[in-house]
Amino acid sequence: MSRLALVTGGTRGIGAATARLLKDSGLRVVVSYAGNETSAQRFREATGIPAYAWDVSDLAACERAVERIVAEHGPVEVLVNNAGITHDGMLHKMTHDAWQSVIDVDLGGCFNMCRVVIAGMRERGFGRIVNISSVNGQEGQLGQANYAAAKAGMLGLTKAIAREEAAKGITVNAVAPGYTATDMVAAVPQNILDGIIARIPVGRLGQPEEIARAVLFLVADEAGFITGATLSVCGGQHMD
Ligand code: NAP
Repeated sequence: MSRLALVTGGTRGIGAATARLLKDSGLRVVVSYAGNETSAQRFREATGIPAYAWDVSDLAACERAVERIVAEHGPVEVLVNNAGITHDGMLHKMTHDAWQSVIDVDLGGCFNMCRVVIAGMRERGFGRIVNISSVNGQEGQLGQANYAAAKAGMLGLTKAIAREEAAKGITVNAVAPGYTATDMVAAVPQNILDGIIARIPVGRLGQPEEIARAVLFLVADEAGFITGATLSVCGGQHMD
């Protein structure tokens, strides 16, 4: 039987494109979402991929959901931590709630999901984890102290777990997308977006499918010598 991949936040945007591409490439795929039933139902009908609702910032909910997925589909061998939110504002106006909610979902959710799948991956001696960070975690971005901190935190988390699990057949990598045409970017005012696009060498937004290609590359069985890496997919906006 082919490997089972779980993509968090997989009913819209980058996660949905990733889920579709992994399925088209022969993996079995399940996705999660936060609670937007309209998008989830549209995604289920279009792809036939099972979608489960829970909040990745809630560790107990992650444990229950993964238990159910394992019972219904078998062990999770590939985990894509894609669920994420923004709550933008300049630091001097940022509320503690805006800070905490983004840290809890984007960074805490990544920890929670890694935490609940890792024992099974260790037992089986195989795992692929890909964490979806951001160019704004690599470079910082005004109005995004919370988001940039969470996304930079994901890079440290990725490297630490990569070191811990390297001998167990588990790779842990990050993909750092640049500005990509999804609902998240649709929320950015057009005048700000025009300024952002002017700083992207390829001169356009990315497409969700272009981010998905990087994830597919990293989750392959043959990618076992790549771990702790960050793959930038940002039209040249950030170069190491
Ligand atoms: P999106 O279109 O806003 O979709 C977000 C997905 O995450 C939805 O399926 C949503 O579920 C789910 N989600 C949100 N909060 C959740 C929670 N607490 N628990 C479980 N699921 C949750 O996002 P996107 O633009 O595709 O971004 C995907 C990832 O890429 C994010 O981590 C984002 O930070 C990162 N990224 C995006 C860009 C970009 O330009 N778009 C650039 C760099 C990095 P519901 O539909 O139920 O709300």
